[in-house]
Amino acid sequence: MSILVVDDSRVVRAMLTALLNSVGYSEVETADSVTTAFERLEEVPSQGSPSIDLILMDITMPEIDGIAAIHRIQAVSGLRDIPIIMVTGRVEPENLKRAFDAGAIDYLTKPVHEVELLARVRSALKLKYEMDQRKAREHELMLALKQLETANKLLQHVSATDALTGVANRRQFDDVLDVEWARSARSQSSLAIILLDVDYFKRYNDAYGHQGGDACLKTVASILISCVLRPEDMVARYGGEEFAIILAGTELSGARIVANRIRARIESVEITHASSEVSNFVTVSAGVAATIPHKGDTPAGLIEAADKALYKAKQEGRNRVQTCACTQPSQAVIVTPAPNGLPK
Ligand code: GH3
Ligand code: MG
Ligand code: MG
Repeated sequence: MSILVVDDSRVVRAMLTALLNSVGYSEVETADSVTTAFERLEEVPSQGSPSIDLILMDITMPEIDGIAAIHRIQAVSGLRDIPIIMVTGRVEPENLKRAFDAGAIDYLTKPVHEVELLARVRSALKLKYEMDQRKAREHELMLALKQLETANKLLQHVSATDALTGVANRRQFDDVLDVEWARSARSQSSLAIILLDVDYFKRYNDAYGHQGGDACLKTVASILISCVLRPEDMVARYGGEEFAIILAGTELSGARIVANRIRARIESVEITHASSEVSNFVTVSAGVAATIPHKGDTPAGLIEAADKALYKAKQEGRNRVQTCACTQPSQAVIVTPAPNGLPK
């Protein structure tokens, strides 16, 4: 461990160095002033010189005295943990109090006696060693905590994301719908959802293989993401080739506009689907529902309404959007026939 002796007297510096060396402290450095001491203390340890573990500080020095130096050391966060033993010829209580108040941990009187010096140095270095150990453990703990935090975030993301398409998965959809449902019930604002289903997707898989089908689902998901504009809108894979979109603060008419935009955009991308009965390209059918939630109701009725609308869209020929006003879960009725696609 390294010791820095700060004293303006060359004789004292040499004497302390010799004493310390003689009992095995080989890393002893000296400084003849506070300015020189600071030049050494502020050297970056990684650039060669080892960090200082203990300072023996003379109190009476020209220019900057030892007490002012202790104050300066205590003000630097990287230095304030180095224990400082003051070395003084004057033992007036007032003098000692000022040094202890500044942050010194111990003192030695001049002329310095060997046994006393070694006892004080040994216990100060032991303290520094234990402090360093504690800091290292704290640092390791902090690193482990950070790693855990990162792993948790990743886990959270993975558990909320659909692996194939990268959009939210069904579990995340259910969670967000519950939250938005409660929020809309509190603010008495309209909550809309869109359920989308790829038309004749089984035939698509049969014709282009499962991998082709997967690629198609990825494209559809990215189109859905590009069609929802508000940050609170959420696209999820509901299951298989079905997607669901939550549109908070949105009325039925607004949600229908979004669904029509999606339907038209998917058709316009012209993903070849030779075995579809409704188009030469991949198309989707959509069911839209909206409601102002009542306190105590669950979102099940809203999903049921969107599902009914989707079923109707399929029945009416696919590649179209159907809407359903949902007042109560049991009163889900299709109200607005809105064909948007032309059967082949
Ligand atoms: P409809 O127009 O009535 O919706 O007909 P459809 O063939 O799309 O409907 P159906 O529900 O009969 O078939 C859905 C198909 O979606 C079944 C399965 O082959 C395919 N599918 C479901 N999940 C995946 C998936 O993750 N990847 C791929 N490639 N295909 C899937
Ligand atoms: Mg389906
Ligand atoms: Mg389908």
